[in-house]
Amino acid sequence: MNRLDISRNFFGISELELQEKFSDWKVETYRVHQVFTWVYHYHCRDFNEMTNLSKSLRSQLAENFHFALPQIQSRTHSKDGSIKYLLELEDGAVVESVWMPSESRKTLCLSTQVGCRLNCSFCLTASLGLKRNLNTAEIIGQHLAINAELKEEDQITNIVFMGMGEPLDNLGPVVGALRLMISPQAMKISTRKVTVSTSGLVDKMKAFQNENLSINLAISLNASDNATRDRLMPINKKYPIEVLIECLKQYPLKPQRRHTIEYVLLAGINDSDEDAQRLAKWLKGVPSKINLIPFNSFDSSEYRPPSKERVLKFQNYLIEQNFSAFIRQNRATDILGACGQLAAQSEASATS
Ligand code: SAH
Repeated sequence: MNRLDISRNFFGISELELQEKFSDWKVETYRVHQVFTWVYHYHCRDFNEMTNLSKSLRSQLAENFHFALPQIQSRTHSKDGSIKYLLELEDGAVVESVWMPSESRKTLCLSTQVGCRLNCSFCLTASLGLKRNLNTAEIIGQHLAINAELKEEDQITNIVFMGMGEPLDNLGPVVGALRLMISPQAMKISTRKVTVSTSGLVDKMKAFQNENLSINLAISLNASDNATRDRLMPINKKYPIEVLIECLKQYPLKPQRRHTIEYVLLAGINDSDEDAQRLAKWLKGVPSKINLIPFNSFDSSEYRPPSKERVLKFQNYLIEQNFSAFIRQNRATDILGACGQLAAQSEASATS
Protein backbone atom coordinates (compact mmCIF):
# COMPACT_ATOMS: atom_id res chain seq x y z
CA MET A 1 0.00 0.00 0.00
CA ASN A 2 1.15 3.50 -0.85
CA ARG A 3 2.27 5.48 2.22
CA LEU A 4 -0.29 8.18 1.43
CA ASP A 5 -3.07 5.61 1.80
CA ILE A 6 -2.29 4.98 5.42
CA SER A 7 -1.08 8.41 6.47
CA ARG A 8 -3.57 11.17 7.19
CA ASN A 9 -3.91 14.61 5.71
CA PHE A 10 -2.43 16.92 8.34
CA PHE A 11 -4.92 19.68 7.46
CA GLY A 12 -7.67 17.58 9.00
CA ILE A 13 -5.88 17.16 12.33
CA SER A 14 -6.99 19.11 15.38
CA GLU A 15 -4.62 20.28 18.09
CA LEU A 16 -6.27 17.86 20.48
CA GLU A 17 -5.72 14.90 18.16
CA LEU A 18 -2.08 15.79 17.72
CA GLN A 19 -1.69 16.14 21.47
CA GLU A 20 -3.13 12.65 21.94
CA LYS A 21 -0.81 11.29 19.29
CA PHE A 22 2.18 12.96 20.92
CA SER A 23 1.32 11.60 24.33
CA ASP A 24 1.10 8.08 22.77
CA TRP A 25 4.52 8.71 21.30
CA LYS A 26 5.82 10.07 24.63
CA VAL A 27 6.58 13.43 23.03
CA GLU A 28 6.15 16.62 25.07
CA THR A 29 2.81 18.23 24.21
CA TYR A 30 4.32 21.72 23.75
CA ARG A 31 5.76 20.31 20.54
CA VAL A 32 2.22 20.40 19.11
CA HIS A 33 2.40 24.18 19.19
CA GLN A 34 5.71 24.08 17.32
CA VAL A 35 4.33 21.86 14.58
CA PHE A 36 1.20 24.00 14.17
CA THR A 37 3.33 27.14 13.99
CA TRP A 38 5.40 25.63 11.17
CA VAL A 39 2.34 24.56 9.25
CA TYR A 40 -0.05 27.45 9.73
CA HIS A 41 2.22 30.42 10.40
CA TYR A 42 5.28 29.56 8.29
CA HIS A 43 3.31 27.56 5.70
CA CYS A 44 5.81 24.73 5.88
CA ARG A 45 4.66 21.59 4.04
CA ASP A 46 7.55 19.27 4.80
CA PHE A 47 8.16 17.82 8.26
CA ASN A 48 11.86 17.53 7.49
CA GLU A 49 12.17 21.30 7.42
CA MET A 50 10.89 21.62 11.00
CA THR A 51 14.37 22.10 12.38
CA ASN A 52 13.45 22.65 16.01
CA LEU A 53 12.08 19.09 16.21
CA SER A 54 14.21 16.02 16.65
CA LYS A 55 14.99 13.95 13.55
CA SER A 56 13.07 11.01 14.95
CA LEU A 57 9.95 13.10 15.60
CA ARG A 58 10.17 14.54 12.10
CA SER A 59 10.25 11.10 10.54
CA GLN A 60 7.49 9.83 12.83
CA LEU A 61 5.32 12.73 11.70
CA ALA A 62 6.15 12.10 8.06
CA GLU A 63 5.18 8.44 8.42
CA ASN A 64 1.81 9.34 9.89
CA PHE A 65 0.78 12.48 8.04
CA HIS A 66 0.94 14.05 4.63
CA PHE A 67 -0.10 17.46 3.31
CA ALA A 68 -2.77 17.62 0.62
CA LEU A 69 -4.64 20.67 -0.60
CA PRO A 70 -7.39 20.90 -3.20
CA GLN A 71 -5.93 21.58 -6.64
CA ILE A 72 -6.99 24.76 -8.40
CA GLN A 73 -8.46 23.55 -11.68
CA SER A 74 -9.55 26.93 -13.02
CA ARG A 75 -10.12 30.56 -12.15
CA THR A 76 -12.90 32.64 -13.66
CA HIS A 77 -12.59 36.39 -13.27
CA SER A 78 -15.64 38.59 -12.79
CA LYS A 79 -15.86 42.19 -13.99
CA ASP A 80 -16.27 43.23 -10.36
CA GLY A 81 -12.88 41.76 -9.40
CA SER A 82 -14.21 38.54 -7.84
CA ILE A 83 -12.62 35.24 -8.80
CA LYS A 84 -14.48 31.94 -8.90
CA TYR A 85 -12.19 29.00 -8.26
CA LEU A 86 -12.93 25.47 -9.34
CA LEU A 87 -11.10 23.15 -6.97
CA GLU A 88 -10.44 19.48 -7.47
CA LEU A 89 -10.38 17.24 -4.41
CA GLU A 90 -8.32 14.10 -3.88
CA ASP A 91 -11.03 11.79 -5.31
CA GLY A 92 -11.59 13.98 -8.37
CA ALA A 93 -14.76 15.64 -7.02
CA VAL A 94 -14.95 19.39 -7.67
CA VAL A 95 -16.24 22.29 -5.59
CA GLU A 96 -16.33 26.03 -6.07
CA SER A 97 -15.06 28.85 -3.87
CA VAL A 98 -15.45 32.53 -4.62
CA TRP A 99 -12.99 35.25 -3.61
CA MET A 100 -14.60 38.68 -3.35
CA PRO A 101 -12.52 41.82 -2.84
CA SER A 102 -13.75 45.14 -1.50
CA GLU A 103 -11.96 48.19 -0.13
CA SER A 104 -12.12 47.02 3.44
CA ARG A 105 -11.98 43.23 3.17
CA LYS A 106 -11.28 40.20 1.04
CA THR A 107 -13.96 37.60 1.59
CA LEU A 108 -13.82 33.94 0.67
CA CYS A 109 -17.11 32.11 0.15
CA LEU A 110 -16.40 28.43 0.60
CA SER A 111 -18.19 25.13 0.09
CA THR A 112 -18.94 22.43 2.66
CA GLN A 113 -20.48 19.72 0.48
CA VAL A 114 -20.25 18.50 -3.09
CA GLY A 115 -23.80 19.43 -4.06
CA CYS A 116 -26.56 19.74 -1.47
CA ARG A 117 -29.59 17.72 -0.46
CA LEU A 118 -31.92 20.48 0.72
CA ASN A 119 -33.41 21.07 -2.70
CA CYS A 120 -34.26 24.77 -2.35
CA SER A 121 -36.14 25.63 -5.53
CA PHE A 122 -34.24 28.90 -6.21
CA CYS A 123 -30.72 27.49 -5.81
CA LEU A 124 -28.64 26.04 -8.64
CA THR A 125 -26.55 23.84 -6.34
CA ALA A 126 -29.75 21.90 -5.55
CA SER A 127 -29.76 20.47 -9.07
CA LEU A 128 -26.67 18.42 -8.20
CA GLY A 129 -28.22 16.62 -5.24
CA LEU A 130 -25.79 15.66 -2.49
CA LYS A 131 -22.73 13.90 -3.85
CA ARG A 132 -20.74 13.86 -0.62
CA ASN A 133 -19.66 15.82 2.43
CA LEU A 134 -16.32 17.59 2.52
CA ASN A 135 -13.94 16.70 5.31
CA THR A 136 -12.22 19.24 7.55
CA ALA A 137 -9.04 19.29 5.44
CA GLU A 138 -11.04 19.96 2.28
CA ILE A 139 -12.91 22.82 3.92
CA ILE A 140 -9.89 24.70 5.27
CA GLY A 141 -7.94 23.55 2.19
CA GLN A 142 -10.02 25.87 -0.01
CA HIS A 143 -8.77 28.81 2.05
CA LEU A 144 -5.17 27.60 2.21
CA ALA A 145 -4.91 26.74 -1.50
CA ILE A 146 -6.40 30.05 -2.65
CA ASN A 147 -4.52 32.24 -0.15
CA ALA A 148 -1.27 30.61 -1.22
CA GLU A 149 -1.60 32.12 -4.69
CA LEU A 150 -2.95 35.54 -3.70
CA LYS A 151 -0.71 38.59 -3.34
CA GLU A 152 0.02 39.95 0.12
CA GLU A 153 -2.59 42.73 -0.19
CA ASP A 154 -5.22 40.27 -1.47
CA GLN A 155 -4.96 37.75 1.38
CA ILE A 156 -8.33 36.56 2.66
CA THR A 157 -9.61 38.47 5.70
CA ASN A 158 -13.18 37.16 6.03
CA ILE A 159 -14.84 33.81 5.45
CA VAL A 160 -18.46 33.04 4.68
CA PHE A 161 -19.77 29.48 4.58
CA MET A 162 -22.18 30.28 1.77
CA GLY A 163 -20.86 28.22 -1.11
CA MET A 164 -22.08 24.80 -2.16
CA GLY A 165 -23.83 22.76 0.50
CA GLU A 166 -25.54 23.18 3.85
CA PRO A 167 -22.83 23.63 6.51
CA LEU A 168 -24.94 22.31 9.38
CA ASP A 169 -25.77 19.16 7.40
CA ASN A 170 -22.04 18.39 7.68
CA LEU A 171 -21.59 19.55 11.24
CA GLY A 172 -18.57 17.57 12.52
CA PRO A 173 -16.16 18.47 9.70
CA VAL A 174 -17.43 22.07 9.63
CA VAL A 175 -16.84 22.47 13.38
CA GLY A 176 -13.37 20.91 12.94
CA ALA A 177 -12.61 23.44 10.20
CA LEU A 178 -13.92 26.35 12.28
CA ARG A 179 -11.75 25.35 15.24
CA LEU A 180 -8.65 25.38 13.05
CA MET A 181 -9.67 28.69 11.50
CA ILE A 182 -10.12 30.51 14.79
CA SER A 183 -7.35 28.86 16.80
CA PRO A 184 -4.47 31.23 17.59
CA GLN A 185 -2.08 28.28 17.03
CA ALA A 186 -3.53 27.61 13.58
CA MET A 187 -5.18 30.01 11.13
CA LYS A 188 -5.80 32.71 13.75
CA ILE A 189 -8.90 34.27 12.21
CA SER A 190 -11.14 36.36 14.45
CA THR A 191 -14.53 34.77 15.18
CA ARG A 192 -16.11 38.04 14.04
CA LYS A 193 -14.76 37.49 10.56
CA VAL A 194 -16.38 34.13 9.99
CA THR A 195 -20.05 33.58 9.18
CA VAL A 196 -21.80 30.24 8.79
CA SER A 197 -24.98 30.36 6.73
CA THR A 198 -27.72 27.84 7.32
CA SER A 199 -31.11 27.08 5.85
CA GLY A 200 -32.31 26.69 9.43
CA LEU A 201 -31.69 23.12 10.61
CA VAL A 202 -32.93 23.84 14.11
CA ASP A 203 -31.57 20.70 15.82
CA LYS A 204 -28.17 21.29 14.28
CA MET A 205 -28.25 24.97 15.23
CA LYS A 206 -28.62 23.86 18.84
CA ALA A 207 -25.76 21.39 18.46
CA PHE A 208 -23.68 24.14 16.86
CA GLN A 209 -24.45 26.44 19.76
CA ASN A 210 -23.21 23.76 22.18
CA GLU A 211 -19.81 23.87 20.48
CA ASN A 212 -19.35 27.35 21.99
CA LEU A 213 -17.46 28.72 19.03
CA SER A 214 -18.91 32.28 19.11
CA ILE A 215 -19.20 32.17 15.36
CA ASN A 216 -21.88 34.26 13.70
CA LEU A 217 -24.77 32.47 12.09
CA ALA A 218 -26.67 33.70 9.05
CA ILE A 219 -30.11 32.21 8.62
CA SER A 220 -31.71 31.87 5.21
CA LEU A 221 -35.32 32.76 5.94
CA ASN A 222 -36.37 33.68 2.41
CA ALA A 223 -40.12 33.81 3.01
CA SER A 224 -42.57 35.43 5.40
CA ASP A 225 -45.18 32.66 5.55
CA ASN A 226 -44.95 28.90 5.89
CA ALA A 227 -46.81 28.03 2.69
CA THR A 228 -44.32 30.03 0.59
CA ARG A 229 -41.31 28.83 2.57
CA ASP A 230 -42.50 25.21 2.18
CA ARG A 231 -42.39 25.71 -1.57
CA LEU A 232 -39.05 27.49 -1.66
CA MET A 233 -37.26 25.45 0.99
CA PRO A 234 -38.65 21.96 1.65
CA ILE A 235 -36.75 21.90 4.99
CA ASN A 236 -39.45 24.27 6.24
CA LYS A 237 -41.82 21.32 6.56
CA LYS A 238 -39.54 19.95 9.26
CA TYR A 239 -38.60 23.26 10.88
CA PRO A 240 -41.33 25.82 10.17
CA ILE A 241 -40.80 29.55 10.62
CA GLU A 242 -42.15 29.75 14.18
CA VAL A 243 -39.79 26.97 15.33
CA LEU A 244 -36.83 28.64 13.66
CA ILE A 245 -37.65 32.06 15.13
CA GLU A 246 -38.06 30.56 18.60
CA CYS A 247 -34.63 28.94 18.24
CA LEU A 248 -33.12 32.32 17.32
CA LYS A 249 -34.76 33.99 20.30
CA GLN A 250 -33.24 31.38 22.62
CA TYR A 251 -29.84 31.42 20.96
CA PRO A 252 -27.32 33.17 23.23
CA LEU A 253 -25.32 35.90 21.52
CA LYS A 254 -22.26 37.76 22.70
CA PRO A 255 -22.81 41.46 23.44
CA GLN A 256 -23.00 43.62 20.30
CA ARG A 257 -23.65 40.61 18.10
CA ARG A 258 -26.73 39.96 16.00
CA HIS A 259 -28.01 37.17 13.83
CA THR A 260 -27.93 37.80 10.11
CA ILE A 261 -31.21 37.04 8.42
CA GLU A 262 -30.89 36.35 4.71
CA TYR A 263 -33.89 36.93 2.51
CA VAL A 264 -33.68 36.16 -1.21
CA LEU A 265 -36.11 38.44 -3.03
CA LEU A 266 -38.08 36.71 -5.79
CA ALA A 267 -40.41 38.81 -7.95
CA GLY A 268 -44.08 38.12 -7.22
CA ILE A 269 -43.26 35.35 -4.74
CA ASN A 270 -42.00 36.89 -1.49
CA ASP A 271 -41.42 40.58 -2.24
CA SER A 272 -44.78 42.25 -1.50
CA ASP A 273 -45.51 44.94 1.12
CA GLU A 274 -47.36 42.27 3.11
CA ASP A 275 -44.26 40.08 3.03
CA ALA A 276 -42.19 42.94 4.44
CA GLN A 277 -44.77 43.47 7.18
CA ARG A 278 -44.91 39.79 8.10
CA LEU A 279 -41.11 39.58 8.10
CA ALA A 280 -40.92 42.55 10.49
CA LYS A 281 -43.43 40.84 12.77
CA TRP A 282 -41.48 37.59 12.88
CA LEU A 283 -38.23 39.37 13.64
CA LYS A 284 -39.57 41.54 16.45
CA GLY A 285 -37.43 40.73 19.48
CA VAL A 286 -34.79 38.85 17.49
CA PRO A 287 -31.43 40.67 17.58
CA SER A 288 -30.84 40.71 13.86
CA LYS A 289 -29.72 42.48 10.77
CA ILE A 290 -31.40 41.66 7.51
CA ASN A 291 -29.58 41.01 4.26
CA LEU A 292 -31.88 41.27 1.27
CA ILE A 293 -30.51 39.34 -1.70
CA PRO A 294 -32.15 40.10 -5.05
CA PHE A 295 -32.43 36.75 -6.81
CA ASN A 296 -29.43 35.76 -8.91
CA SER A 297 -30.77 34.15 -12.06
CA PHE A 298 -29.57 31.08 -13.88
CA ASP A 299 -30.86 29.54 -17.10
CA SER A 300 -33.09 26.79 -15.79
CA SER A 301 -34.81 28.96 -13.17
CA GLU A 302 -38.47 29.95 -13.18
CA TYR A 303 -37.78 32.92 -10.83
CA ARG A 304 -36.83 36.51 -11.51
CA PRO A 305 -35.38 39.26 -9.32
CA PRO A 306 -37.76 42.09 -8.37
CA SER A 307 -37.35 45.58 -9.86
CA LYS A 308 -34.93 47.92 -8.11
CA GLU A 309 -37.87 50.03 -6.88
CA ARG A 310 -39.53 46.99 -5.31
CA VAL A 311 -36.31 45.99 -3.56
CA LEU A 312 -35.86 49.53 -2.20
CA LYS A 313 -39.47 49.71 -1.02
CA PHE A 314 -39.07 46.39 0.79
CA GLN A 315 -35.88 47.62 2.42
CA ASN A 316 -37.36 51.00 3.36
CA TYR A 317 -40.28 49.43 5.14
CA LEU A 318 -37.92 47.37 7.29
CA ILE A 319 -35.77 50.41 8.05
CA GLU A 320 -38.88 52.38 9.06
CA GLN A 321 -39.61 49.57 11.50
CA ASN A 322 -36.14 50.14 13.01
CA PHE A 323 -34.42 47.11 11.52
CA SER A 324 -30.97 47.21 10.00
CA ALA A 325 -31.73 46.08 6.48
CA PHE A 326 -29.13 45.92 3.73
CA ILE A 327 -29.29 45.00 0.09
CA ARG A 328 -26.54 42.52 -0.53
CA GLN A 329 -24.52 43.63 -3.47
CA ASN A 330 -24.59 40.86 -6.00
CA ARG A 331 -21.06 39.74 -6.68
CA ALA A 332 -19.72 37.69 -9.54
CA THR A 333 -23.13 37.21 -11.19
CA ASP A 334 -21.51 37.44 -14.65
CA ILE A 335 -19.52 34.26 -13.94
CA LEU A 336 -22.27 32.35 -12.07
CA GLY A 337 -20.31 32.89 -8.89
CA ALA A 338 -23.01 34.54 -6.80
CA CYS A 339 -25.18 33.04 -4.06
CA GLY A 340 -27.10 30.10 -5.40
CA GLN A 341 -25.28 30.01 -8.72
CA LEU A 342 -22.60 27.48 -7.83
CA ALA A 343 -22.77 24.11 -9.48
CA ALA A 344 -19.13 23.22 -10.12
CA GLN A 345 -19.29 22.68 -13.84
CA SER A 346 -15.92 22.68 -15.52
CA GLU A 347 -16.23 25.57 -17.90
CA ALA A 348 -14.43 25.54 -21.19
CA SER A 349 -14.37 29.34 -21.06
CA ALA A 350 -12.59 29.43 -17.70
CA THR A 351 -9.33 31.34 -17.68
CA SER A 352 -6.56 29.60 -15.84
N1 SAH B 1 -27.14 26.19 2.62
C1 SAH B 1 -26.77 27.43 3.24
C2 SAH B 1 -25.60 28.15 2.57
C3 SAH B 1 -25.56 28.23 1.07
S1 SAH B 1 -26.64 29.34 0.27
C4 SAH B 1 -27.97 28.31 3.38
O1 SAH B 1 -29.04 27.94 2.93
O2 SAH B 1 -27.88 29.36 4.01
C5 SAH B 1 -26.13 30.94 0.72
C6 SAH B 1 -27.23 32.00 0.54
O3 SAH B 1 -27.56 32.15 -0.83
C7 SAH B 1 -28.53 31.60 1.21
O4 SAH B 1 -29.05 32.68 1.96
C8 SAH B 1 -29.49 31.30 0.06
O5 SAH B 1 -30.81 31.55 0.43
C9 SAH B 1 -28.97 32.24 -0.99
N2 SAH B 1 -29.29 31.84 -2.35
C10 SAH B 1 -29.39 30.60 -2.86
N3 SAH B 1 -29.70 30.63 -4.16
C11 SAH B 1 -29.79 31.95 -4.50
C12 SAH B 1 -30.04 32.64 -5.73
N4 SAH B 1 -30.23 31.99 -6.87
N5 SAH B 1 -30.06 34.00 -5.70
C13 SAH B 1 -29.79 34.66 -4.55
N6 SAH B 1 -29.51 34.06 -3.38
C14 SAH B 1 -29.52 32.72 -3.35
